[in-house]
Amino acid sequence: MRVLVVDDDRGSRLVAKAVVEDAGHECIVAEDGTAAWELYQDFHPNAVITDLMMPGLDGFALCRAIRAAESDTYTYLVVVTSHGDHADVLAGMEAGADDYVTKPLDPFTLQTRLLAANRVTSLHIELARYRDALAAQARTDPLTGLRNRLTMTDELEHLHNSSERYGQDYCLAMCDLDEFKSFNDLYGHQAGDAAIKAVAATLAGQFREADAVYRYGGEEFLVLLPNQSGPGASAALERTRVAVLRLGIPHSGSSFGVLTISVGISANIEGHRVSSERLIHEADDALYEAKAEGRNAVVFSEWIPQAQ
Ligand code: GH3
Ligand code: MG
Ligand code: MG
Repeated sequence: MRVLVVDDDRGSRLVAKAVVEDAGHECIVAEDGTAAWELYQDFHPNAVITDLMMPGLDGFALCRAIRAAESDTYTYLVVVTSHGDHADVLAGMEAGADDYVTKPLDPFTLQTRLLAANRVTSLHIELARYRDALAAQARTDPLTGLRNRLTMTDELEHLHNSSERYGQDYCLAMCDLDEFKSFNDLYGHQAGDAAIKAVAATLAGQFREADAVYRYGGEEFLVLLPNQSGPGASAALERTRVAVLRLGIPHSGSSFGVLTISVGISANIEGHRVSSERLIHEADDALYEAKAEGRNAVVFSEWIPQAQ
C-alpha cells in the first residue's frame, strides 16, 4: 500500500512512518492537513493516517474532503485522537474515518490497523477491477469485439452535443450486409457469424482513430465520422465497400458472387443541422436506396445536395 501519514507533531509522524515502513508499505508524510490534501490528490494513497487536531485543514475536514473526492477508489482512513476522546472519535468516524488510534501512538495497535487497511483496500481494488470489466463488457459486442449499440447511443449523443456547441460537422453511415439471410440459409449460421466477424474486422481497419464503428444490430454496422463533411465520408465508405468486396467471401446467392455491403450516409453539416435520431433515419433511407439500386453500393442522403 501507499500510506499517507499526517501529523503536525514530529514525534508522532516518525513513529507512524516507522510502523508503516516496517510493515513493508510506502510512506509519504505531511505536516499539516493542507499539505496532506495536496499529496492525496497527487499520489492517491491507499490509506491515510491523520491527526485530528492540526492548524489549517484539520483531520475532520481532510476525511470529508477525501470521501467527497473518491469515485471508483477507496481510501482507508485512520484518525489519531489525542486522548481517545469519544466525541472526537465519533466525529472522526462520521467524517468518513474507518478506524482510530490514540496518542501516544502504540506501534502494535497501528500495525493491526494497517492489516485491516490492506485487506479492505485490496478488496476495493478487486471490486473496481470487476466493475471495470463488467462495464467494458456491457459496452462491447461479444461476437465482433466492436462497440455495441448502447455505446453508440452514448457516443452519438456526446458527438452531437459537441457538434451543436462548436458548430462542427459530422457524418453517420449505416452499413448492412447484402442478402445475408440467404447467406445463412446457404452456408449455415456459424459461417454467418464468421462472416459478420470478418466484415467487422475489415470495417474496423478502414477508419481514422477519431472515427468509430459499432455493431448496430444483427448484420448492421454504424460508423460515426466526426469532423467530416460529405466528400470525406463518402470516400471512406466507398473504400470500405470495396474492402469488403475484396474479402472475397463466397456467396452464391448474391449477384456479385461474394458477400457485399450496402451503405447509407447522412451528414450533420452547415445548412443541415438535424437531430441525431433524424440523422440515423436519413442514413437508413439512403441505405434503403442503395439496396434498391442493386446493393454493393454507397448512397448519400438526398438531404445533402452538395455531396451528390
Ligand atoms: P438485404 O440485402 O436487403 O439486407 O437482405 P438481408 O437478407 O441481408 O436482410 P434481412 O434483414 O432480411 O436479413 C438479415 C439476416 O441477418 C437475417 C438474420 O438471420 C441474419 N443475422 C442477423 N444477425 C445475425 C448473427 O448474429 N449471426 C448470423 N449468422 N446471422 C445473423
Ligand atoms: Mg442485410
Ligand atoms: Mg439488416
